[in-house]
Amino acid sequence: MTDTQYIRDRLNRPMKDLRISVIDQCNFRCTYCMPAEIFGEDYRFLPFKELLSFDEIVRLTEIFAKFGTEKIRITGGEPLLRKNLNQLIKRLYAIDGIKDIAITTNGVFLTKQAKKLKEAGLDRVNLSLDAIEDDVFKEINGRGVKTKPVLKGIEAAQEAGLQVKINMVVKKGLNDSQILPMARYFKDSDVILRFIEFMDVGNHNGWNMDTVVSKQEIVDRISGEMPLEPVEQNYYGEVASRYRYLDGGGEIGVISSVTDSFCGSCTRIRLSADGKLYTCLFATEGYDIKTPLRENASDHQLILELIKLWSGRTDRYSDERAEGKPLKREKIEMSYIGG
Ligand code: SAM
Repeated sequence: MTDTQYIRDRLNRPMKDLRISVIDQCNFRCTYCMPAEIFGEDYRFLPFKELLSFDEIVRLTEIFAKFGTEKIRITGGEPLLRKNLNQLIKRLYAIDGIKDIAITTNGVFLTKQAKKLKEAGLDRVNLSLDAIEDDVFKEINGRGVKTKPVLKGIEAAQEAGLQVKINMVVKKGLNDSQILPMARYFKDSDVILRFIEFMDVGNHNGWNMDTVVSKQEIVDRISGEMPLEPVEQNYYGEVASRYRYLDGGGEIGVISSVTDSFCGSCTRIRLSADGKLYTCLFATEGYDIKTPLRENASDHQLILELIKLWSGRTDRYSDERAEGKPLKREKIEMSYIGG
């Protein structure tokens, strides 16, 4: 497919990556993402009939692929809670034009599922782990889970032949004490550790600028003990700034959507578990694609909907935040739309 077949938005950004949330439920209650006080026993998650079926997800993905979408990320909630996920991945893998399928997971269920997922066509796993010390990790995940099941999940993914990256969200006062222990733990290993600046997604995580540990601070802290140097981007639109250890101990990444935003190269569109499309992680409203899908819209009609949505896209939330524009709004939750 040549570049001209991509749909471009108003800022000339192509639509290349589709993030598919397959479920809004999670087995963790991370304090900064799905705090137990809000997502408690009485919280009403989406009923099964509201979730897009695998047939519906595949049909939409085929349409996206026609417009140059090459990369798929499966997310949630916790995507491995969706039954028979390997069957979905197998079908997505078979779509013409799809070059890369990844999943974002907390890793707990990987020991059981990694092999099946790899066989189905999964390429990569981004595994979320916010601390290496049990006490800190138990506190964050809100379920008292130790790191061991997650570390076992990493092992299982590697044994299955999946590429693994670890994502650690850093929130000041919560887990910034873990920056160095995490860097030490994963240095000289086959996995790349990526630090993510705590973002103002959702409405319940108590975000303010004082809770953000900046990319510069993260790099300085690590480099003070284990010297680092910057490395070139792998490809256009890569979200992580890369650094390598001077002693050859591998590399780390830092995703700095707060202190060094990258809206200008954002090529991502997100599909929620209940069939809404979002052109920005910080959006307030989605674009309902499930209704036309369930009312038997033709491919042609769905394509027109998609062109209308993407070609009118102007989102640049993080850049606007950095420019100091007032941005108070009711946003979607990260657990609903995924990472
Ligand atoms: N359950 C899966 C997992 O744990 O990876 C997928 C969904 S989770 C919402 C996806 C990612 O979003 C996780 O890495 C999580 O740490 C990250 N996340 C949630 N809230 C965030 C925030 N406010 N800022 C930055 N990352 C956040």
